[in-house]
Formats: sequence, structure tokens, C-alpha cells
Amino acid sequence: MDLCFDLTLAVGYTSRAQRSRRLTEGWVGAHMFCPRCGNPNIRHYNNNEPVADFFCPRCNGCYELKSKSGRFNERVNDGAYATMIERITSNTNPDFLFLSYSAAAMCVTDLVIVPKHFFVPKIIEERPPLAPSARRAGWRGCNILLSGVPKQGRIAIIRSGTELPREQVIEKLHRSSNLAKGDVRTRTWLFDVLNCVNILPHDEFSLSEMYKYEKLLSTIHPDNHNIRAKIRQQLQILRDAGYIEFLGRGSYRRLSL
Ligand SMILES: [Zn+2]
Repeated sequence: MDLCFDLTLAVGYTSRAQRSRRLTEGWVGAHMFCPRCGNPNIRHYNNNEPVADFFCPRCNGCYELKSKSGRFNERVNDGAYATMIERITSNTNPDFLFLSYSAAAMCVTDLVIVPKHFFVPKIIEERPPLAPSARRAGWRGCNILLSGVPKQGRIAIIRSGTELPREQVIEKLHRSSNLAKGDVRTRTWLFDVLNCVNILPHDEFSLSEMYKYEKLLSTIHPDNHNIRAKIRQQLQILRDAGYIEFLGRGSYRRLSL
């Protein structure tokens, strides 16, 4: 995969934002495969499609592209808060591609896909309304809080200038689909427990270690009064999805995937 931009695409554009958009969108359209089905390319929507930037002609997967010179911060600016929440609760949001590039080398350095089902309201932060003097006074945008997404939902396609094996990307994305359970409430629980599993110090862990997160989880989910049962339920889903295994007698192993 050629990671360098086609600079001719930016000829005639003076605004930095427009140049960046032309170059990154041009690169994705020319080189990016569909990480859902492996189709060799994905296509740019012709018009300003409100739902996504790219689609796969084979599996109809939709992708929204976020690009940045340099690494992404924890917060990534996105569009209207209300629209985002509506999209993620109705399951009509696309998968997101986060593309980082080097402005010096004019090449892609990192590309990560966050599958759509990892978007839960918790990782969407409402920005303050625009000032009364602004053209769109009162409008509220949002930030995507990338660090709130479990690492299983941040699947690298290119890392530090190296493309990862495509089969590996597709397999990871496919496996993550096992976590596309229920509505956003259900998935919020699942990802909260998965985030706890991810920060455990050892791959082998016990149920009592997981129960140490009871207090933390009860502050996030104050309406739930049976946190331990909820933890066990999520661990079962993670087992069925192939992210952990049960060793018996309240012991588990985290699988490095
Ligand atoms: Zn596809």
C-alpha cells in the first residue's frame, strides 16, 4: 500500500483544511480496502452525504473519515452533538476511520478503525454552545472521547507507517462484531466491564478481582443495584465473543487479541 498522498489533488487549494481534506480523502479513495469484507477499495460518496464519507460497493459498509496532521488527541472534534447521539442510539452511524498523517512527509502514518457499535453516549462529549456572536449561535458540537473506547474497538490498519496484515484487521473487526449486542445501554455496560478487564495487571484473573470494580461501576451506573451479577453477565458475553476464557472456579484468562 502506497502511504503517500497524491499532491496533485491539492493544486489550486489554498486553505489548509481544504488541502488536507482533498489529500486524505483522495488517499482513502485510491488505496483503502474495505476492512469489513476485504473488498480492494471503498468509494467516496458523490454528494455531501450526511451519513458517511465512504461506502463499500460490495458489503455496503459505511465509513466516516477523521483526519489529522500528527497523532489524535484524546478528544476528537465531530459534528452536532444531538445528531451524533441520535445516530448512535438508532444504530445508523458508520464505522469511523481515524487517519493521522505527517505534514512534512505528506504520508499516512497511522490509521485506526473504530467500528460503529463501539460508539456509546458515554464516549460522546457535548461541547459548549457557540457564542451568541457566532454565525450558528447556540449550536452544540461534540467531541469523541477516543480513550473511552476499549482497545478491542480501536483496530489499527496502519501503525507508525507500516501496514498491518489485512486478514488480521478483518479478523479483529469480525471478532469485535460479537460485541455488537443489544442497544447502547447494554453495550455501555459491556464496554465498561471490558475496560476494567483491560486494566487488570495480569492475564489470569479472578472474579473477586473484578468485584473490586464494583464501586467504580456503581458510580457510573447508579440505577443498578446488582453490580456483581452485571459483571458476571458481561464476562459471559466476553467469553462467548472470544476475548476471555473461563478457567473454572471463578478464574478467567484474558486472551491477547
Ligand atoms: Zn465491504
